[in-house]
Amino acid sequence: MDKNMKTKIAIIGLGKIAVDQHVPSLGRSDKYEVAAIVSRNAKLDGIDAFENIQDMIKARPDISAVSLCVPPQVRFKIAKTALQARLDVMLEKPPGSTLAEVYALEDLAKQNDCTLFATWHSRFANGVAIAKQKLLSLDIKTVEVIWKEDVRRWHPGQDWIWQPGGLGVFDPGINALSIVTEILPEKFYLTDGVLHIPQNLYTPIAADLNFKTVSGKPVTATFDFLQTGPQTWDINIETNQGLLALSGGGANVTLNGKTLVASDALASEYDRIYARFATLLAQNSSEVDVTPLMHVADCFMLCKHEAAAPFIE
Ligand code: NAP
Repeated sequence: MDKNMKTKIAIIGLGKIAVDQHVPSLGRSDKYEVAAIVSRNAKLDGIDAFENIQDMIKARPDISAVSLCVPPQVRFKIAKTALQARLDVMLEKPPGSTLAEVYALEDLAKQNDCTLFATWHSRFANGVAIAKQKLLSLDIKTVEVIWKEDVRRWHPGQDWIWQPGGLGVFDPGINALSIVTEILPEKFYLTDGVLHIPQNLYTPIAADLNFKTVSGKPVTATFDFLQTGPQTWDINIETNQGLLALSGGGANVTLNGKTLVASDALASEYDRIYARFATLLAQNSSEVDVTPLMHVADCFMLCKHEAAAPFIE
């Protein structure tokens, strides 16, 4: 492909994250042209709209890539259709509702010579690369994750979150796990935990989790979907040289109170994601890391399930 040619991309699912981040980010990039929207309801002024991907593929053979912003439960079928039509695919997190689905998509991408990019937007937050670099020269003693947000504020009307495959509080919690799996120099695994599941729903509203690194260091995580007031997306890492603290979902980093990075989280994450996708497209390669989803699957497998009070939005 001509290096100066823009990739014609379609956004599939025009919900909160597509409108808040994907559309503006693509608008700022000189690498892409938003050529179509696939949505059951929504439209964007001046852009072709289709109700399903099959209609888009028939009508617009010039489109070469799709960005999937639909809930995880419907992602596999759409991604499979796209890859079988030889379209390059970018997936919002989590990449699927099961691990097996994602491995199958990876195979389909290879068979069809397509790029598959399973994104973890929090890994692109401003402080993550710096925290990762710092930790290479520090001895870690403990890791504490506190991820507490108000589901009514951030996920209004998103019934899919409470259905099987929607992950409940792990929808944000997996963002924390995507950062921790990126920055810790060694692997960790779940030892025990509790999932709190509202009696009227299928997915957890809170979780208390204990992991251990391979060398035996404790990693704890507390996820809560009922946090009103200030919201907390913190990772505190005690080291031999003091506390390395990430806050704001990876946007800010301090070491012993001294600021290493101070920024705004989501604003730059999606610009970096689309830049990374452009690099993968140019290299004709894929990037699929299921590690955060693997930890979530382990939580659903190993944790105690406790009934919590019914939740009504
Ligand atoms: P959302 O507001 O509910 O939007 C999802 C969109 O997917 C809907 O607007 C709908 O668009 C489409 N869709 C297609 N089939 C659907 C179905 N069976 N049920 C429901 N929607 C269906 O959700 P979102 O917050 O944008 O999240 C989408 C994905 O992005 C999730 O995996 C989430 O984890 C991830 N994400 C969200 C955020 C955030 O802050 N909200 C941040 C980062 C990542 P149409 O009506 O256009 O078809």
